[in-house]
Amino acid sequence: MNSPALEVQRLHKRYQQGSTELVILRDLELTVASGERVAIVGRSGSGKSTLLHILAGLDSADEGRIEVDGQDMVGADANGRAALRRHHMGFVYQHHHLLPEFTALENVAMPLRLQGSSTATAHAAAQALLVDVGLESRVDHLPHALSGGERQRVAVARALAGHPAIVLADEPTGNLDRENAEQVMDLVDRLSAEHDIAFLVVTHDDTMLSRFNRVLQLVDGRLC
Ligand code: ADP
Ligand code: MG
Repeated sequence: MNSPALEVQRLHKRYQQGSTELVILRDLELTVASGERVAIVGRSGSGKSTLLHILAGLDSADEGRIEVDGQDMVGADANGRAALRRHHMGFVYQHHHLLPEFTALENVAMPLRLQGSSTATAHAAAQALLVDVGLESRVDHLPHALSGGERQRVAVARALAGHPAIVLADEPTGNLDRENAEQVMDLVDRLSAEHDIAFLVVTHDDTMLSRFNRVLQLVDGRLC
């Protein structure tokens, strides 16, 4: 049987603030199946971004296990975590985080270049992805010459380029108007099904929740 895209066990995270201990995540458990789309909601400050950072190996937990595509994230060293991110994970942020001096095509090709693909192979794949997200006429645009919705569609294409098992997204539609947000979520729905890529998405947008296979709430450090 295939490994789940993500498996999290007994994750615990606390911050020490002076003399008080702030418990952010408390024995948190989460399994995301291959190709599954899961939303995480919760009030501001509940720990959603902290959770995504830890899952990405960019912050460390105090206790717990994380397996991405069957591979141990917590026990890996910095190089191992970077390799896990590069080969098994994709990311979409609220602010697109495209590299400003690179074209849409080069930005989407970047994950494949980092995986070791040749420029020609990476650019061909990026071109196909940009066609797929409806941006064939924008491939040579720099990020500043794209609209907010277009930039976020490029960001989704980039997140998928390296064929990750799972894409983590923190408020991916938070800066978009309704129409552009719908377009980005349409892409997430379609591409996650077509490529069998799981999505774990933090969102404040209640109108998007019906699109997900599951909606989990982060309360008191746990998902329910
Ligand atoms: P959310 O994304 O759900 O709004 P965050 O994950 O950003 O919440 O933050 C969760 C809590 O952790 C907040 O109360 C925040 O103040 C606290 N926090 C985040 N980072 C740190 C840190 N480096 N040191 C201390 N507290 C932190
Ligand atoms: Mg946040």
